[in-house]
Amino acid sequence: MNAARLHSYNEALKLDEVDEPKVDGPLDVIVRIGAAGLCRTDLHIQEGQWAEKSGVQLPYTPGHENAGWVHEVGSAVSNVEVGDTVIVHPFISCGLCDPCRAGDDMHCLNGSFPGINRDGGFADFLQTSARSVVKLDPSLDPKEIAALADAGLTAIHAIKKAIPVLSPGTRAVVIGAGGLGHIGIQCLKAMTPAEVIVIDPSEAALR
Ligand SMILES: [Zn+2]
Ligand SMILES: [Zn+2]
Repeated sequence: MNAARLHSYNEALKLDEVDEPKVDGPLDVIVRIGAAGLCRTDLHIQEGQWAEKSGVQLPYTPGHENAGWVHEVGSAVSNVEVGDTVIVHPFISCGLCDPCRAGDDMHCLNGSFPGINRDGGFADFLQTSARSVVKLDPSLDPKEIAALADAGLTAIHAIKKAIPVLSPGTRAVVIGAGGLGHIGIQCLKAMTPAEVIVIDPSEAALR
């Protein structure tokens, strides 16, 4: 398959022919990538800012905002079937450790992060796990929703923290209607009764 891989920091990704990922464990899911978003973090990775933290070995395939269709499933996967349209939660968590059981999957003691510390979605196929795939309506086009896998999560996380103080009659100010801000505005409108005020120096963004 094709994969856009980082071979050395501060250089452009190279399009390589690599082996397709296979189902290794019973809960593995192989996703045929329909779209993979480009996150600011991908640019930081390319600049080497994550090298020490992630410990990833080059070359590898970035890409952590992924959506597509289920291509293959492990023997114990029951939540999705081959052909399902899915969005991929960026993190793979075990579901069994104490943080996972407390609903704090991002601090999973056995987690891994495709696109950060192992091969991600800038490729034809991605290996992830059953716990990380969310089945979507088949009418949804992966390229319309892939960025929600991370940009969407980030915005909704911020809005959830603000919900307790946003009672009826309050106002919420969004500073910046860019890649994250425009999703935050939609979350505020859908999830809170607050009046939403948006500040952005770009006339186009305000429209
Ligand atoms: Zn990201
Ligand atoms: Zn865990």
